[in-house]
Amino acid sequence: MSSQNPLTQYFHDTYEKQPQPYPGIQREMTPVPDCGETSYRGAEKLVGKKALVTGGDSGIGRAAAIAYAREGADVAIAYHPDEQVDAEDVKEIIEAAGRKAVLLPGDLRDADYARQMVKDAHEQLGGLDILVLNAGMQQFEFDIQKLDPKQLTDTFEVNVFSTVYSIQEALNYLEAGASIILTSSIQAVKPSPQLLDYAMTKSCNVSLAKGLAAQLGPKGIRVNAVAPGPVWTPLQISGGQPQEKIPNFGKNQPLQRAGQPVELADIYVLLASEGGSFITGQVYGITGGAPIV
Ligand code: NAD
Ligand code: MG
Repeated sequence: MSSQNPLTQYFHDTYEKQPQPYPGIQREMTPVPDCGETSYRGAEKLVGKKALVTGGDSGIGRAAAIAYAREGADVAIAYHPDEQVDAEDVKEIIEAAGRKAVLLPGDLRDADYARQMVKDAHEQLGGLDILVLNAGMQQFEFDIQKLDPKQLTDTFEVNVFSTVYSIQEALNYLEAGASIILTSSIQAVKPSPQLLDYAMTKSCNVSLAKGLAAQLGPKGIRVNAVAPGPVWTPLQISGGQPQEKIPNFGKNQPLQRAGQPVELADIYVLLASEGGSFITGQVYGITGGAPIV
């Protein structure tokens, strides 16, 4: 059997410029990001588990949600109300895997929603074992003097504050064996000049994962972070990057292309599953080659 070449295994051509308003709709992208819809096969790694994935309508969160369902978990996804069409697609995929799907639209800039979403997931799933805090906001700005206070606040509310509120609520339900996973970024350690506010929030995700792992270790709850490099998702084309950077997005990596969300599915499964029983307080880089340490 020949091994697959990672340079050519997924889309590695030039992307078309394709601006969309924040937060972006995946099904309108060209090419549509690959979240494992046709390829991910489960192996019963999460049978009977209940998972909440924020930003589960598209991109990396969608890849995690699809993988979790095919591994046997019931899955709630949280997303911005403007993303209903993408969320409906994911619901269909989860149900086709024979699992329960719960849709929880809302805006994570609202602290009450960040708590209520967890409460609703727990209630509607009938339990909660896996909490993936993956939603994220990224808007580029090259000049710190032009960084709008509203953007600064929004980015911190979505990427940092909501994670704390959601975890506070979840700790009312999570038991030993539970897993919390945060989506950080290569930006936590290698910030781009146009992403200062975003990069700062992604460092916060790392420190939260490490510190909270120490706090919750004695309770048997594991906490880890994933730090992706460039991945083809709606976040990038809806203000995450200037459109001029879209055609060659990801090409400066050692693997010479952007990743597809499905290429992150396995790490989210490992960190959520019993296979990850001794893994906590760690950050996993899935970057196409850029080192995270
Ligand atoms: P994505 O656009 O598919 O997912 C981001 C999701 O965040 C959206 O689908 C939306 O549901 C949610 N979100 C954003 N603002 C929200 C709000 N105000 N209220 C509620 N939900 C909101 O893009 P993605 O790239 O898959 O992003 C997932 C995570 O991956 C983010 O945390 C992002 O920072 C991180 N990340 C992405 C890349 C990349 O290159 N795509 C690289 C490193 C890290
Ligand atoms: Mg989305």
